[in-house]
Amino acid sequence: MIPRLFIVIPCYNEQEVLPITAPMFLAKVKDLAAAGKITDDSRVLFVNDGSRDNTWQIIEELAKTDAHYIGISQSRNRGHQNAVLAGLMEAKDKCDITISIDCDGQDDINAMDAMVDAYLDGCEVVYGVRSSRETDTFFKRFTAQSFYKFLAAMGAEVVYNHADYRLISARVLKEFSNFKEVNLFLRGMIPLVGFKSTSVSYSRAERIAGESHYPLKKMIALAIDGITSLSVKPLRMIMGFGMFIAFVSFIGCIWALITALCGKAVAGWASMTCIVCFVGGVQLICLGIIGEYIGKIYMETKQRPRYIISDRTWDEQENG
Ligand code: UDP
Ligand code: MG
Repeated sequence: MIPRLFIVIPCYNEQEVLPITAPMFLAKVKDLAAAGKITDDSRVLFVNDGSRDNTWQIIEELAKTDAHYIGISQSRNRGHQNAVLAGLMEAKDKCDITISIDCDGQDDINAMDAMVDAYLDGCEVVYGVRSSRETDTFFKRFTAQSFYKFLAAMGAEVVYNHADYRLISARVLKEFSNFKEVNLFLRGMIPLVGFKSTSVSYSRAERIAGESHYPLKKMIALAIDGITSLSVKPLRMIMGFGMFIAFVSFIGCIWALITALCGKAVAGWASMTCIVCFVGGVQLICLGIIGEYIGKIYMETKQRPRYIISDRTWDEQENG
C-alpha cells in the first residue's frame, strides 16, 4: 500500500523564509507522489507557533493556492517542541507517515526520498542525521557538539547529530500519544517508543533567510530539559559527590582531632573559611539540581495541555 505522507513544519516568525521554502516542500511531495512512493493526497502541514509577524497570513494564502498546503496555528508561542508535537498529533490520524522538518531550508529535503524508502523497507522511525556542520559557524558547531556530548554524559541518550528532522509512522505516533509528559524533548523520547528504526545522513546547509531562534541561552535550556526529562543521573552524581565530600570531611575531622589532642591546634581561619564556602557552594548546586527536578514534577502534576490549536486552514469536519 502506498503511504500518505504529512510533512510537519513548525514556523515561528518565518515570513522571510516561508515563501522560499514552501514551494520546495510542495515540489518534494509532488516528486515523491510522481515516483509512486507516497499518495497524491499527501500534505505539507505548517504549524504556526504563535508568530508575531505575517507567517500565519502567508500559510493561509498558501493553503488557498494549492490543496497540498494545510496549516494549523497555535494559540500562542509555545516553543519548537510543542509546535512539532501539535503537528504530529494533528497528522497521526490522517496519514500513514509524517516527516518533521524545520522551515528554514537548513535540512536537506532530498533526504526525504531515502527516509520514505527506509519506511517502505519496513522501518517505522527514520532519523535524519547531519553528516557535516561545515556551514555552521565555529561557535554554533562547538556548542551543538558539546550539547550532544553533555547529554550523553548525563545519561540522556539521543541520536548523535540528530535534531528534529525525522520520519515517524502513524503507528509509532499512536503509541507515542500515550506519553503524556508536558516536558517535551522529542529527540530523546521517540527512541523510547521503540520499533524498527534507522538513520539517513544529510549535510546541513545555512539558513536561507531570517535568524536562528536557538541562541546559546535556549540551547542550554533545551539541554537541561533534555537531561532532566530523560535521566536521573545528575541526582546520582550529587549523591556520589556528597559521599566523597563526607569521606574527605571524615578524614579531616580525624586529622583535626589528632592535631588538637597533640596540643598543636592553630587559629585555622583560612582552612575553615575555605571549607565553609566550598561546602556551602556544593550544597547550593545540589539543591539547584534537586529543585530542577521538583520543578519538572510540579509542571507534570498540573497536566496542562501541551498545545492549543486556535486556527486551521480547513474545516475541522472535513479531512485535511
Ligand atoms: N520554531 C518554533 N517555535 C519557536 C522557535 C522556533 O516553531 O519558538 C521553529 C522555527 O520556525 C524553525 C525551527 O523551529 O522552523 C527551528 O528553529 P531555528 O531554525 O531558529 O533553530 P536552529 O536551526 O538555528 O537550531
Ligand atoms: Mg534552523
